[in-house]
Amino acid sequence: MPKDVLRLQQHLGDDEGAWPKHCVIEVPSEIKADIDRVVEAVEVAHINPQKAKTIIGVVNSEAMKRWFIDVALWSGSWRAQRRISADVTNTKKSIRRPIRQKLLEELFNRDGWQCRYCGNPVGGNRKHFKKFAKQIDMPELIYGRSDETRHGIYLMMMASYDHVVPVNSGGSNETQNLVTACWPCQFGKYRFTLEELGIDVPQSYSSNSLDDWKGIAGIF
Ligand SMILES: [Zn+2]
Repeated sequence: MPKDVLRLQQHLGDDEGAWPKHCVIEVPSEIKADIDRVVEAVEVAHINPQKAKTIIGVVNSEAMKRWFIDVALWSGSWRAQRRISADVTNTKKSIRRPIRQKLLEELFNRDGWQCRYCGNPVGGNRKHFKKFAKQIDMPELIYGRSDETRHGIYLMMMASYDHVVPVNSGGSNETQNLVTACWPCQFGKYRFTLEELGIDVPQSYSSNSLDDWKGIAGIF
């Protein structure tokens, strides 16, 4: 059950008709603005690492972390329960088979390195974050093995993927069933189907906010 039901309620509200249709929960605008700052920092890091470090320095890591842990992680469960009564049946364990790195990069390229649910840009994997952190001399970007100790940027911009039809509902590892997803959307969606969450098919959704973004991976 959600740790912080009030915060979820505040974000989604009681009116189901007003809930976002393309993702489980919208990223607050202050956090979106900070994500844009990270994109800017990544793009200048090679030419001017100090400038990149200054930009990253104003990003509110704590706000990202709190939103990720207290709200995003619980949003799918909360939303599904509100929609399909308290009796959520789709909770059996599933085995996710790993996807090859090469296939993943093809997937991220196909999706423009942007989450197909919320539209936010994703950066890359741990290796890419590590190179970026080294370039701008900010090792704290990649510290931490738990969500509480990780940097907010890492939590918000790790490049991941989602099975649109969940594995526990018979979804396959075929690329047409996979979309690029940020961690908040991937974990927020959890094991629920689009129908249970009341969201549209994500493959066709794109915010088109960044034309030539290729993640941290495209630069480092
Ligand atoms: Zn997302």
